[in-house]
Amino acid sequence: MSRLNGSRKPAQFKESVIREMTRLAQQHGAVNLSQGFPDFPAPEAVKAAARDAITAEVNQYTVTWGAPQLRQAVARDFTRRYGVPVDPEVQVTVCCGATEAMVATMLGTLDPGDEVVVFEPFYENYGPDAILSDAVIRYVTLHEPDWTFDPEALAAAFNHRTRAIIINSPHNPTGKVFTRDELAAIAELCHRWDVLAITDEIYEHIIYDGCRHVPMATIDGMADRTVTINSLSKTYSVTGWRVGWAIAPPRLAGAIRKVHDFLTVGAAAPLQAAGVTALSLPETYYVELATGYQRRRDMLLELLESRGFACFKPEGAYYVMTDIADFGLGDDTEFARYLVSEIGVAAVPGSSFYRDQALGRTKVRFTFCKRDETLQAAARKLDALRAPAGST
Ligand code: PLP
Repeated sequence: MSRLNGSRKPAQFKESVIREMTRLAQQHGAVNLSQGFPDFPAPEAVKAAARDAITAEVNQYTVTWGAPQLRQAVARDFTRRYGVPVDPEVQVTVCCGATEAMVATMLGTLDPGDEVVVFEPFYENYGPDAILSDAVIRYVTLHEPDWTFDPEALAAAFNHRTRAIIINSPHNPTGKVFTRDELAAIAELCHRWDVLAITDEIYEHIIYDGCRHVPMATIDGMADRTVTINSLSKTYSVTGWRVGWAIAPPRLAGAIRKVHDFLTVGAAAPLQAAGVTALSLPETYYVELATGYQRRRDMLLELLESRGFACFKPEGAYYVMTDIADFGLGDDTEFARYLVSEIGVAAVPGSSFYRDQALGRTKVRFTFCKRDETLQAAARKLDALRAPAGST
């Protein structure tokens, strides 16, 4: 066996199914409702700030932990919204997207053999992040239709090897928004087993029907054992900028910062400068963001349901999980491949969000972070799909 192969760690995970679906969409000229990136413009003021920063020669490395003004803006915003004090000098680390913030946090806080609790379905990066960190995941299932967890199953996932739990709220792929009571139940287990909560709150502002986002750091006693991860990507429609951050308790921040330093040194300097402008947009921006997405959500729900998809209505984030069993067109992967190649719409097979793939075999995820024209184009393509018997 040649030694000129990949190492053992990447051999344990597969290429991202979501990014593969985007490639297939391009290959087949399909409408891409698979990967969560907006196809409408980012806010003009934020783009202008990036251009101005480049012109003003903000083109060299920033401080490794992030440009001071961006760290201050992140800390100020979190404290103003949620009342949790954050020291930007110590606690905030700016990274290349929430993606790097998550892997830097896991590499910086987990030791080989530590266990991490993850809810399934999950955002697909957490599995590879755990493998890269030599950690072992314990999965706890979120049950449809409202994606609740069994408190006993959650309690059973904790033991003396548990080092962390990952929570993503609002949740990709289901749109679940964890309630204060659910977070309090998780917090109680974190206290009991001395466990860290790592929370991915990247869809913080994309929330519907009067639901409220509750950060784990606001739950009693949790600020000292929570790393909060967020980014510019979704809130400001700049997924390609790769600017995110981790807010960590002081005793953990140093470890995360060291890993981040040696992984990437820092995120793009002019885009960090533009992040300061983004974080100072008026409150109306966030209201319009959420109402715009709620309208698109309702549009996608209507167009999918009228064509025979059973949909789980999301409370937040910008995805709709559907059940496709009644179409009789095979399992999730067969269905998604048929959809992209024959119908011309790309979506993500549900099994890619589950460790127990059987749980995702009848599910397919669509995103609605798209212009009305894109959603209407998808609707026209989906007209060619034979609706399941008995559906409207
Ligand atoms: N976390 C979740 C839950 C996501 O859905 C995504 C992107 O889809 C990311 C993180 C990636 O964030 P970023 O673009 O900031 O790396």
